[in-house]
Amino acid sequence: MAQFPLADRLAALPPYLFAEIDRVKQEVKARGVDIISLGIGDPDMPTPDFIIEALHAAAKKPINHQYPSYRGLLGFRQAVAAWYKVRFGVDLSPEKEVVSLIGSKEGIAHFPLAFINPGDLALVCTPNYPVYNVAVGFCGGTVKYLPLTSDNNFLPDLDAVDNDTWKKAKLLFINYPNNPTSATADRAFYERVVEKAREFNVIVLHDAAYTEVYFNPAKKPMSILEIPGAKDVAIEFHSLSKTYNMTGWRIGMAVGNETLVNGLGKIKENVDSGIFQAVQEAGIAALQQGEPYAEKFRAIYRERRDVMLQALDKAGIGYRKSDASFYVWCNVPKGYTSAEFCTNVLQKTGVVVTPGNGFGAPGEGYFRISLTVDMPLLEEAVSRIIKL
Ligand SMILES: *Cc1c(COP(=O)(O)O)cnc(C)c1O
Repeated sequence: MAQFPLADRLAALPPYLFAEIDRVKQEVKARGVDIISLGIGDPDMPTPDFIIEALHAAAKKPINHQYPSYRGLLGFRQAVAAWYKVRFGVDLSPEKEVVSLIGSKEGIAHFPLAFINPGDLALVCTPNYPVYNVAVGFCGGTVKYLPLTSDNNFLPDLDAVDNDTWKKAKLLFINYPNNPTSATADRAFYERVVEKAREFNVIVLHDAAYTEVYFNPAKKPMSILEIPGAKDVAIEFHSLSKTYNMTGWRIGMAVGNETLVNGLGKIKENVDSGIFQAVQEAGIAALQQGEPYAEKFRAIYRERRDVMLQALDKAGIGYRKSDASFYVWCNVPKGYTSAEFCTNVLQKTGVVVTPGNGFGAPGEGYFRISLTVDMPLLEEAVSRIIKL
């Protein structure tokens, strides 16, 4: 038999921490319990019809059946720039400062290939979306984790990083509104990030996937590019996935510093051939006409959040009251680890919640609830949790 050992980069992947939950899920299912998953960060509501209709019309155009342009349709990049101007007051050159992505995950995963050499250091705030550290690892880079803790409102303590580390670092990953903690960042934080990055010549990668899932219209989440000087150091990744319920469509964008956008574009030219143009045309429709729908989805998540927070109060479970994202970050009751608690909830109630340590060590002591099920199902989950 031929032997095909996996490459070192795969062998070095961090252990999969949700295996135990998956196993218990099968066991509970086999007992005939209907599982309710509050584990997945994937909107349950369908994509608005007008976007589907735009896809339908665009799919009928033969020009769209050919290879798309590498950087994305100029029309899509113009729609992204126009949306950034209206939403954030940020000016972007559609030609030079925007690249379309096959979902922001694709872009985030490829970005380090353009700027990280073997041995280079990247700073990753954790608990985190796992793509950040995995992508750095695939390039042979090293990761230093900056812990996000409740003491600091789940923002990294930038002053706790010493100057030698700042000097060595090539890249800093930040993500607000944050998955999994639901934390948001204020202007002062972004100003500090930009100041540090400029001082030490560090690239800032801001993952902004959740800026449109907010509950306080007086405090809308920001783009890092709103900060003067941010364009010297920052690239921001955004996506239509969470805003317009389009996770299955695979369309997103990276915007900001021209050199950074270009570097990512060069990697992509050699790896993929862009997004189906009909999907990009549908994306243009979403960006131009999607706001009333995004508003409706926010109202729905807000209602779900409120129902969940009441239930957690009744169950005596502590949490961080989120003002953005569709996650609730909860405290594991005393006497359990995150994994023990989530396994116990699943075994007793059939409700899947995610152990916080699966997102990184500082997530121990927490679990994440995702509000991506409809109200009847959420209420059923809630009634089971209260009886816990
Ligand atoms: C969902 C998510 C993304 C990626 O979404 P795409 O569908 O690939 O655009 C990126 N970052 C975070 C933190 C997410 O939760």
